[in-house]
Amino acid sequence: MSPQIIIVGGGIAGLWTLRRALALGYDAIALEQNAIGCGQTLASQGILHSGVKYGLDGASRQIATLLKSLPPRWSACFAGHGELDLSAARIHAHSQHLWASANWLDKIAAGVGARAMQSEVHALQQDAWPAALRDGGHRGSVYELAESVVDVKSVCQALAAPVRERILRGNVVDAEIAPDGKLQAIRVDGAHKSRGNLAPPLPQGEGWGEGCRLSAEAFIFTSATGNETIAAMLGLGSAIAQRRPLRQIMLRGRLPLLYGHGVSASPKPLITITSHPLNGETVWYLGGGVAEAGAAMSETAAIAHAQQTLQQGFPRLDLSGTRWASWLVDRAEPHASSMLPDGPALLERGNAVICWPTKLVYAPVLAERALAFAARRLQPRGLSPVEIALPPAEFSTFPWESVQWQS
Ligand SMILES: Cc1cc2nc3c(=O)[nH]c(=O)nc-3n(C[C@H](O)[C@H](O)[C@H](O)COP(=O)(O)OP(=O)(O)OC[C@H]3O[C@@H](n4cnc5c(N)ncnc54)[C@H](O)[C@@H]3O)c2cc1C
Repeated sequence: MSPQIIIVGGGIAGLWTLRRALALGYDAIALEQNAIGCGQTLASQGILHSGVKYGLDGASRQIATLLKSLPPRWSACFAGHGELDLSAARIHAHSQHLWASANWLDKIAAGVGARAMQSEVHALQQDAWPAALRDGGHRGSVYELAESVVDVKSVCQALAAPVRERILRGNVVDAEIAPDGKLQAIRVDGAHKSRGNLAPPLPQGEGWGEGCRLSAEAFIFTSATGNETIAAMLGLGSAIAQRRPLRQIMLRGRLPLLYGHGVSASPKPLITITSHPLNGETVWYLGGGVAEAGAAMSETAAIAHAQQTLQQGFPRLDLSGTRWASWLVDRAEPHASSMLPDGPALLERGNAVICWPTKLVYAPVLAERALAFAARRLQPRGLSPVEIALPPAEFSTFPWESVQWQS
């Protein structure tokens, strides 16, 4: 079988692109080296940013404008009448909060950020604060942001389930480049070792481990950290990409639900908190500043630092009986002089394109741009049955479902 389009990577970018490619009538498949969502996608906090946080900072106004157009696109999908049907996916919260210990937020709201914030954000009286902030003893101001937080696994399931036979488990290990620079074929190893216990063992079967050679008319690489190796295979050099290491911190117990960012003297969050159900308990998944600082620390030191940050923000929060864990993950981005690239990035080489969404919320834009690249080269020919000796890729677990918890 020689599909028209091969997409490499089974994260949000690959899944969204596959579904859109099939909807447009391209004969497409996706390859995932490990398990669906196992990279950044299921390690993300699931916040569908609308740009409000960036609108607070005059320098990032451009990002704010692009982001603002995206939540309506996602909402249409969740409602079942968008470009893809995500009506089976779950939304944890339809808004999140921004809290600050001083009156810094109020000053910003009244000044430079006011226009960007407009209707998407409003200050809350103390009796309307989320319980974690009110009962936790937060002192300062609290804003509500009209930004949803989604259950990312259910989004991946809604995207992948209808086309599972087209998402195969295989690790791209080599590329055949023609003298004219065209990517002719990729070599796929079907026996890639999974990382930790995120991916279930390969099913017993004949020939799975041997891999295969696959050709296609266009290749779309959405392989995140794997894009570095792919770029080197395509002769582009691995310096086109960068990684930002994070150590996400998790605590579980009888915790109130909380979604949002604690900020201090800049819109860059000191801490980002999202809440996730786990066996009758709630997991607080902590990112932002605590995860950036924690990347350079041991797990014990990073957890202690996160505990200190929580105690400063919520001095009355009862953390007794909670259990803790951490998760190391790299954010994969195109190389940029600033720390945060402003939107999805695509790098073309012949009939191949390497893509980074840089945020979950950008997946629809990335898919649109990657398929516009494909449309310049080929016409949809309709789907043919998948006949490739690779097993179907399984779904990954969330980090909090596979870590070792400590008291
Ligand atoms: C801790 C954290 C929190 C985040 N929170 C948010 C948030 O709240 N909101 C938001 O909008 N964004 C967030 N992001 C960013 C967002 O998660 C990413 O931009 C997005 O998930 C990237 O999707 P992707 O499909 O490009 O990459 P990934 O999800 O990393 O998927 C890439 C896939 O490619 C596979 N792969 C790699 N190499 C190969 C190969 N050679 N062959 C086959 N397969 C290969 C990998 O196994 C992986 O599954 C967060 C990121 C992190 C790390």
